[in-house]
Amino acid sequence: MPLPRLLLDIDGVLIPFPTADGSTPPTHIRHTVLPTGRNPGDSVTIWLNPAHGPLLAGLLGSGLVAPVWCTSWRKDATTIIGPLLGLPEFPCLDLPRPQITTSHPNGYLWKRDHVSPWLGGDPVAWIDDDFTALDHTWAAERTARGNPTLLIQPDAYAGLQPPHLADAHTWAVQLWESSVPAEETSRCGHLPNDS
Ligand SMILES: [Mg+2]
Repeated sequence: MPLPRLLLDIDGVLIPFPTADGSTPPTHIRHTVLPTGRNPGDSVTIWLNPAHGPLLAGLLGSGLVAPVWCTSWRKDATTIIGPLLGLPEFPCLDLPRPQITTSHPNGYLWKRDHVSPWLGGDPVAWIDDDFTALDHTWAAERTARGNPTLLIQPDAYAGLQPPHLADAHTWAVQLWESSVPAEETSRCGHLPNDS
């Protein structure tokens, strides 16, 4: 089985939504950034939790998943967000820029139309705040077909929490264990990158 993909969203996950009064979680530090295509002087303020860097790096360092950004930040995820969290560089999914006014123009997350063919049959843990019931049905059906699919959906106003990454890690360990013959796991006695 190929290494499971880990798809990672940013808005509502690493950058939680502000509350009605504009406040953001005290765990998050504000940064001023200039996304690609914006004029100098047209910068935007974002907020990131510095604890997310080591937490994510720990999961990525396990060697159990292959991370890919899946976000409307596109390449800026790799060049702006990742470095601010101290993350190693990893690729981003080349999403289009559809002219849509909702994240669910067909009742499910718009990204799925691009993620699904890109994945093929690969197993995936996908972290996004914006799944609908149709996405969860898609994941269950995909898993039933033998393509393990885990959707992790943080609250958009709270963002990513440590248990979300623990869930992804547990899922990846179980996949790894199920893909390796029992006598081999007992002989090796350790997971990939487990030193
Ligand atoms: Mg989002």
